[in-house]
Amino acid sequence: MNAQTSPEDFLQHLSQNNIGEGYFITQNGQLKASHTSLQALANNIRKWPDFQQHEGVFFGTDQRNNCLFTACVYSTVRGQSAGGVRFNSYPTLGDLFRDGLRLSKGMADKNAIARLWWGGGKGIIYRKNIHDLSAEERKDMYQNYGKFVSRLNGVYVTAEDMNTKPEDMADIFTTTRHTTCIPVEFGGSSNPSIYTAKGVFSGIKAAAEFKYGKDQPLKGKTALLHGAGNVGYHVMEQLIEAGAKVLVFDINEKTLQRIRENFSNDQAEIIQDEKAFFSTKAHLLSPNAIGAILNDDSINNLQVEMVVGGANNQLLIAEKHARQLQDKGIIYLPDFFVNRLGIINCANEQYGYVKADIDREVELVYTDSLDLLEKAKSKNQSPFIIANQIAEERLQQPHPIWGHRGPKLVKEMIGNGFGK
Ligand code: NAD
Repeated sequence: MNAQTSPEDFLQHLSQNNIGEGYFITQNGQLKASHTSLQALANNIRKWPDFQQHEGVFFGTDQRNNCLFTACVYSTVRGQSAGGVRFNSYPTLGDLFRDGLRLSKGMADKNAIARLWWGGGKGIIYRKNIHDLSAEERKDMYQNYGKFVSRLNGVYVTAEDMNTKPEDMADIFTTTRHTTCIPVEFGGSSNPSIYTAKGVFSGIKAAAEFKYGKDQPLKGKTALLHGAGNVGYHVMEQLIEAGAKVLVFDINEKTLQRIRENFSNDQAEIIQDEKAFFSTKAHLLSPNAIGAILNDDSINNLQVEMVVGGANNQLLIAEKHARQLQDKGIIYLPDFFVNRLGIINCANEQYGYVKADIDREVELVYTDSLDLLEKAKSKNQSPFIIANQIAEERLQQPHPIWGHRGPKLVKEMIGNGFGK
């Protein structure tokens, strides 16, 4: 088994070998598999570029609904590894784990930048077809995912992410305490997207002021918006309110129709061709759809002065593409720096919800972004590199009460029979 193995073949191997759950954990620099038949795969994963001494990768199966459950844990130094669970399909194990490994590292950086006492993790529910489940099957699947999270003994705390909603979190909440983003009626904080968009706009405002000065820096400017979903649409509203014109690319016709109905041509225009979109001359690009869209091809064509958006993992090859943007003189605020309101909004919901706290955090993205841009300018470095250094430093600071607790939790859960 290797990166090219399909998740379906992996599930079949697990079923044939009576393996319902298992793990790959880092011990003494090695990646140890829970089962002998999986050690070759562990040795393989260890060599993948996205595996960066993650503390562990945990998996379970949901045979009733043909799903593979995973939780990637990058770090628990600052606390339990927190990050959303996405429901998605992938052609290969390499694609599936790459997403989990990259996103769990990204969550660790984001939680540290947000000054949250949480480590970084990410969950994935894999299913070959994510669209053909009945409402009952979907509920059952999320309840089973909750049971899987409970089996992890608190090492991972889940949240909403791609293709999941607060109602799904409520189903997860019926079988585990280790979830956030649950609906308000259950004492949660619900959908974080509006706050994510406010944080992203705080970053845009800071970058625009840094570039054009304090007086209405977005008035009369043109912004390219890639993706106008939950986050992107609210970013677009704020851009238009600040006096910018927005040029949108999105693959969802319903989303585009909503824009045509709600905005005039002077406020928002749709660009149909993605290649033409990325080479359109504008002041700002705001990526709010998918990851890896800042790559050799797109950066080569870009004719913008700033890139600030909410999509996770925008840079295909992080440092390389951050440098390319810097070399082109494009200001880049990293996604994990400006889209942190999503996790801030839900991360501490067990302490109750105070809106003023969240509003203050929106403001903090603005002041932190200005500081970051100043620092980057004085060092003639990409803001991405500086932000990474800040995150790395904070990731060394153990939780003030619990210390680096993950390895103890994992030892306990394996002692209690996880992965046997
Ligand atoms: P969403 O699914 O509501 O919106 C995504 C939008 O992008 C949709 O309109 C979709 O049609 C469009 N899209 C998908 N693929 C595309 C493509 N290839 N090209 C152009 N458009 C495409 O998701 P969202 O909640 O708005 O999240 C957007 C991004 O922000 C994601 O990368 C997500 O991980 C990240 N993010 C979201 C939050 C949050 O609070 N929702 C928090 C942090 C990060």
